[in-house]
Amino acid sequence: MEGVRSELLVHRWSLCVVVNGKRNHRGIRVAPRVAVRWATVMSTETSSLGRETPTERAARPTEPRTYEVRTYGCQMNVHDSERLTGLLEEAGYVPFEQSPDGEQTRYPDVVVFNTCAVRENADNKLYGNLGHLAPVKARRPGMQIAVGGCLAQKDRATITRKAPWVDVVFGTHNLGSLPVLLERARVQEEAQVEILESLEVFPSTLPTRRESAYAAWVSVSVGCNNTCTFCIVPSLRGKERDRRPGDILAEVRALVDEGVSEVTLLGQNVNTYGVEFGDRRAFGQLLRACGEIEGLERVRFTSPHPAEFRDDVIAAMAETPNVMHQLHMPLQSGSDRVLRAMRRSYRREKYLGIIERVRTAMPDAALSTDIIVGFPGETEEDFAQTLEVVREARFAAAFTFQYSIRPGTPAATMPDQVPPGVVRERYDRLVELVNEISWVENQKLLGSRVELLVAEGEGRKDAATHRMTGRARDNRLVHFATPRVEVGVPSPASSSGGARIRPGDLVEVAVTHAAPHHLVADGPVLRHRRTRSGDAWEARTAPPTNTTNVVGLGMPTLGTPPPLAPSACG
Ligand code: SF4
Repeated sequence: MEGVRSELLVHRWSLCVVVNGKRNHRGIRVAPRVAVRWATVMSTETSSLGRETPTERAARPTEPRTYEVRTYGCQMNVHDSERLTGLLEEAGYVPFEQSPDGEQTRYPDVVVFNTCAVRENADNKLYGNLGHLAPVKARRPGMQIAVGGCLAQKDRATITRKAPWVDVVFGTHNLGSLPVLLERARVQEEAQVEILESLEVFPSTLPTRRESAYAAWVSVSVGCNNTCTFCIVPSLRGKERDRRPGDILAEVRALVDEGVSEVTLLGQNVNTYGVEFGDRRAFGQLLRACGEIEGLERVRFTSPHPAEFRDDVIAAMAETPNVMHQLHMPLQSGSDRVLRAMRRSYRREKYLGIIERVRTAMPDAALSTDIIVGFPGETEEDFAQTLEVVREARFAAAFTFQYSIRPGTPAATMPDQVPPGVVRERYDRLVELVNEISWVENQKLLGSRVELLVAEGEGRKDAATHRMTGRARDNRLVHFATPRVEVGVPSPASSSGGARIRPGDLVEVAVTHAAPHHLVADGPVLRHRRTRSGDAWEARTAPPTNTTNVVGLGMPTLGTPPPLAPSACG
């Protein structure tokens, strides 16, 4: 269904749901009034905050308001949070800084929850977090709480009903509305809930505050045309929408100009890219076009869907020097019967065939996957087939999940739900096998020389172990010994004249130790190349001279690297 939405800055055909909640005399909102209309609904009601009059507010010092964005879920959400951050900073908000002692004695003016609906108990966790903030907000006039992302898209007005102290609820299709909604909630002193049923503008055109100086996500598409029965994503993110290749490449070039060395092309089904404009070879061509961007050292993508995985993509990976020989391709189950029940349109043989062709074209490729254990109706025989595929595929890593009911998905009401105890027991066996195989695969790299893009924040024990951490070309995590370099005295091991190694630089090391989930290189650094990414990181972390972070239209700014997040999907 479509309708006219007239209030926002961009006019598009979409259904808009607006909910206005009123506050009681204590500043806590009471039962909201819900309106679903074809045209934008704006409340004319006013109500008292009971804390601060408009006159008082006008007299309040106009210090910039601080914000914090709390992100849950996959890479899509991590990247969306970069956009929310960019939007807020463009609107004049500044990042909230925690107390140096870590004590939560102060709070930001605005807290934004970017939620995930895929994880188990996501809603309970959200309402728990919102509950913690209720007394804080009651003590702190002017504080605002916003909830966005997949759970907001799904639960909509329920959020302000269950947590009436929330100021703004926005969905996955209208991230760009956040600053307007916050302002409207503040001025009108009532909750704003705005959910659109279709994309307003492609999110990559929104201002973005990139979290990393050297690595960046770049969306090629949003949404998904599949209907996996365990997944709520299609109903929350909508049908696949593809960005034009020229826009994607322009964004990648802009990132490289800013010093980024590595981009990860992001889509729910990255390899169906092109379906919207009718070009089935578009994704392979996009990879090859990335190969022509000077200064772009590494290209990755996540996540491809096995049903659509084509040989031209394998060829593009193998023949484009800056496309990494790494493939994360969700398996979900090794049983054809379960795959059918999941409505995944490939079968075990097809999956293994892709892996074989990838390995033939790129013998050094590292493969990883997602697997769900205990899907409704999964028998011991089905599970044994999953173990077989894992043995055959020899994954370098696997994200393993115990199936649990996700309300709103077809699988939630399927008969033969597997008892939790059985799911757990199978899960333990799977994890044991996955770890065993990844350890063996990692041991094959002992003594080999690997190139690392030095990372920041990925080695939790680095300070204690006097190491730094980087990602190999195949995405393996490698902790390496930090060379002891006297200031101004060149190190013989370093081609950079003994300069300090910085996140964003490239180094080469030899692997000395293998563990199931990481490698260690405790010998000397064999080569160190200072990069523009390292310069960008250094500029970002230098003591401030005068500036705030630059925020531009889809353009990068610099910061700490993005956290590793589970697969975007596929
Ligand atoms: Fe689409 Fe991935 Fe969800 Fe399947 S699991 S419906 S491919 S988003």
